[in-house]
Amino acid sequence: MESTEFNQNVKQIAFDKEHQQRMMSRYESFMALTKDCTNHYSNIELEKSRAFNIRNKTFKNYDKLLVDFETNVINNKGVVRWALDADQAKQMIYNILSEEKAKNIIKTKSVVAEEIGLISYLQMKKMNVTETDTGEFICYQFDERPSNSSHAASHKSQQEIADIYSEKFGVKNNLSAKQLMTVTRKVLSDKYLKADVAITGADFIVADTGDIILSENDGNTLKSISNTGIHIVLVGIDQLIPSIDDVSTLLPLSSLYEVTKIKSKSLYTILSKPAGNVNRQKLYVILVDNNRSTFMEHEVQRQIFTCINCGACCSVCPIFNTIGGHVYDSAVPGPVGAVLAISGDCEQAAHLATLCGTCRQCEQYCPMKIKISDLLLRNRVDIIKQDKSLLAERNVYNFIMKKIESRKDMDKSKDFFNRMEFKQLLKKTWGVHREIPKFAEKSFSEMWREINKVES
Ligand code: SF4
Repeated sequence: MESTEFNQNVKQIAFDKEHQQRMMSRYESFMALTKDCTNHYSNIELEKSRAFNIRNKTFKNYDKLLVDFETNVINNKGVVRWALDADQAKQMIYNILSEEKAKNIIKTKSVVAEEIGLISYLQMKKMNVTETDTGEFICYQFDERPSNSSHAASHKSQQEIADIYSEKFGVKNNLSAKQLMTVTRKVLSDKYLKADVAITGADFIVADTGDIILSENDGNTLKSISNTGIHIVLVGIDQLIPSIDDVSTLLPLSSLYEVTKIKSKSLYTILSKPAGNVNRQKLYVILVDNNRSTFMEHEVQRQIFTCINCGACCSVCPIFNTIGGHVYDSAVPGPVGAVLAISGDCEQAAHLATLCGTCRQCEQYCPMKIKISDLLLRNRVDIIKQDKSLLAERNVYNFIMKKIESRKDMDKSKDFFNRMEFKQLLKKTWGVHREIPKFAEKSFSEMWREINKVES
């Protein structure tokens, strides 16, 4: 995304009063509901460290653990396929659906599906796909991507949802939240009955058992996999954990902080073998790399793969709460997506790396103790080292560096630095609201000469 387009999107949303109110009330609700949520732990910091170590130790053995996982899935009568990139993953899914003569496909929440653009791909192939996660179902009605990976439609007001439901499903446009939920269930119930394939993501995949861990809050995943005969799990290789014993530490932490009174992760499924329709039970696991193994070479930033997608960093980030998730233009909106962006287009990462004011609120809440600000700062360093920072910034930086080589040149240039023309150079990239630091009226050498009455 061009910096001008990015600035326009930010400007539009940051000054939208309704959006601000919604985000603020979400933030206040988060603060109120999470006040006592760690009280049942005798030592939450110890638990967080334990969780971080579990995820961290996976990095040291990824190659071996992934093979263990594959072997165990096969022993459990499942099939494993390895997808190097998004195109391969989509092609694999399409091939399975064609082989299985699938007519009606239901899908539950999956970050990887969003990342590879699965729904639009399958629609292009004339496949009938229905999204069953309530938040993503709502976003789908608006033809929008989720704005938050744990609460997909949190950027929408109840009235906006009521209006679109009225337009799409012919219901009144003044329905309550409960009534809107009933409409959603009614629309989806028929889809569950007709579906022959379910596509889900996974919270974790377990190396020592081949299990697949799924969490949800409204039963759509369980309904999907039990009503259909064929289950495709689409999961990134970063979701791997070493042992089933680790689940009791990680799962409770992934739903530690909730922004609504309804827990977004209150139902858990540990899937050990193909489930569903007894006549034709099939389980396919598609392990997606799509740049993850390359990202793991970033010794600092790979720490982000310890993320367990609890959503807390989005809830407390003042920047996310100002601009919302869509501006990130990423499958994982928010601070986590901003860190991950370094694995792709560096121009995009350069924008996103600036979306952190280093307040470090997220670190206080993150159950995995991830230092997101440090990772974003490291992204900035890497971007500059690769000479991929924003063009205007690079030009200005090179100009300043040239000037400061000579004390005289620098003294002469300070007026230029403080004048409007200089600001104009960065206006397109930084927008009009960002202040440029002022150069001191007098340099140290000028003051020195003045005090000591030395002629220049
Ligand atoms: S980075 Fe931490 S706070 Fe943010 S979603 Fe991941 S685990 Fe939660």
